[in-house]
Amino acid sequence: LVSRKKKPEDTIVNVKGEHIGDGQTHFVMGPCAVESYEQVRQVAQAISQQGLTLLRGGAYKPRTSPYDFQGLGFEGLQILRKVADEFNLAVISEILNPNDLETALDYVDVIQIGARNMQNFDLLKAAGQVRKPVLLKRGLSATIEEFMYAAEYILAQGNSDIILCERGIRTYEKATRNTLDISAVPILKKETHLPVMVDVTHSTGRKDLLLPCAKAAIAIGADGVMAEVHPDPAVALSDSAQQMNIPEFNEFITALKKSAALV
Ligand code: PEP
Ligand code: MN
Repeated sequence: LVSRKKKPEDTIVNVKGEHIGDGQTHFVMGPCAVESYEQVRQVAQAISQQGLTLLRGGAYKPRTSPYDFQGLGFEGLQILRKVADEFNLAVISEILNPNDLETALDYVDVIQIGARNMQNFDLLKAAGQVRKPVLLKRGLSATIEEFMYAAEYILAQGNSDIILCERGIRTYEKATRNTLDISAVPILKKETHLPVMVDVTHSTGRKDLLLPCAKAAIAIGADGVMAEVHPDPAVALSDSAQQMNIPEFNEFITALKKSAALV
């Protein structure tokens, strides 16, 4: 079902009026983790001032260490919804557990399935049964074929509103946190009819690479770019090294708007 051979025309995912897959570049921006109402509000205000509408933020955080901040959980979803409604933004947030899915539907506009859960088949099936778009990230060590099969699990349950997200893969290279597999974008665009985004934050893990990698993503045909923004990254409870602060976010968006015909 994911194959372009089965459906030659592009799938366009409508997220509160942003049509992802329509040929424009869409931005999904926001903090790694929801930490407080005020933190999310500051980022949402900056997003809104740039004319963007898609707010991301993790309420349930899939952390490598059980001793690291695990997210605010349900309270995080409530904060996201409240702030998003104040600025008329859409909420994109990761769900880890199929049992949290139904509750989350009242708070999120897009369900994110993270890299660590790309092959959580119960979660994929559950996300396939809801009527909300799903942003599916590529697994840490997943091949493109495995990534497409993960999307197939969602589609096979009847949900075709899927956005694929390349977020870097594990290689021997240590200069970046993961290796951004930029050629996955045109391969996925060719093999599937689904929109494809690139997460420049988790793929690079380096602030100095966010802009060049976002430019590369747009140039190679990505439908959107995801990146993390925090009012004060130095004190962020997760991914503190690679989140942009608000002036950096403004420079990032301005530079991308200049370098391409966008939104
Ligand atoms: C995220 O986007 O918040 C995240 C945890 O990313 P990934 O699943 O790609 O590691
Ligand atoms: Mn993060």
